[in-house]
Amino acid sequence: MPEIGFQEFKTQQYLLERIRSMPQERMEIAEWKTGIAVKVRGQNATKLIAWRTDIDGLPIEEATGLSFSSNRKGFMHACGHDIHMANALGLLEQLIGNPIQQDVLILFQPAEEGPGGALPFREWLKTERPDLWPDEIFAMHIAPELPVGTVATKPGLLFANTSELFIDLHGRGGHAAFPHLTEDMAVAGASLLMQLQTIVSRNINPMDSAVLTIGKFTAGTVQNIIAENARLEGTIRTLNNESMLKMKQRIEALCKAVEIGSNCSISIDYGASYCEVDNDGELAEKFLDFAGVAEGITAVRADAAMTGEDFGYFTEQIPGLMFWAGVASEFGLHHAKLNPDEKILEFMPGFIHHFFSRL
Ligand SMILES: [Zn+2]
Ligand SMILES: [Zn+2]
Repeated sequence: MPEIGFQEFKTQQYLLERIRSMPQERMEIAEWKTGIAVKVRGQNATKLIAWRTDIDGLPIEEATGLSFSSNRKGFMHACGHDIHMANALGLLEQLIGNPIQQDVLILFQPAEEGPGGALPFREWLKTERPDLWPDEIFAMHIAPELPVGTVATKPGLLFANTSELFIDLHGRGGHAAFPHLTEDMAVAGASLLMQLQTIVSRNINPMDSAVLTIGKFTAGTVQNIIAENARLEGTIRTLNNESMLKMKQRIEALCKAVEIGSNCSISIDYGASYCEVDNDGELAEKFLDFAGVAEGITAVRADAAMTGEDFGYFTEQIPGLMFWAGVASEFGLHHAKLNPDEKILEFMPGFIHHFFSRL
């Protein structure tokens, strides 16, 4: 029953049923939109440790042919958030059956793929439920390219600061034979697309890094009409917020120049944006040390990637750590044939439980 951001009604219902079927003595359940926060009381807590799972799916038709395929046509858990949820339920079960010293908060967070649930969830915790504000926060993401049993992370930046980018150009269209009476938005859009490519090469410090990708460019209606509209759709990725602001300033300046040069009007919409995932150095070292000697686990130092994750809004304000967990799938994230190896669920909840018992 994969559901997209903030539509996770059945998912939430299912999770609540599963959570309520467990012994309740140590548990406190709070609902926020389509998300859930479950606190498990520890033996003798000095802090509150959070584990976050995302719960949303993607509008992709599943093509794996697996027995546990999506039962909802046109939607699937192509980013492994079903594995994340099953793992979180497993962890919850273990914490109830075998309480650790510290209190643990399990966050079932909606809308990771968009429009982003982490930021409003965090703000809700802060303003409405400060008693549930964690001292530390952890999360994992499945990694199709790593073998089962391998975990990978690093201190500091793990995922990029990201923003969507939608640019609409509007001018006067007209007959293909009378270009002098029109403003051609296909030409203006194409020119803007090329100019945007100079931002990373000419405005960003070469020792820094950034990506600007226009994944979709549309203009016009038919072959013999000069285009009245054009639209560029893309994404911006940087390693920090300053570079993100710089990128946006340059995009706006280039758009202004095309507006003047092509006598048209341009509007920019940045859509959803995610803060970078910045792992706490101490927690990362502690985790890598622990995983390095854990039975059946291989710990690897990961490279930072230009992927985005709204978990970054948690690490922005709470010491936190995200790690990759291998699921050995031939097809990658967001692919219709993503096939994570479920063997990960046999040991991952226990591994995290064990790690949490050391915190
Ligand atoms: Zn995803
Ligand atoms: Zn994901």
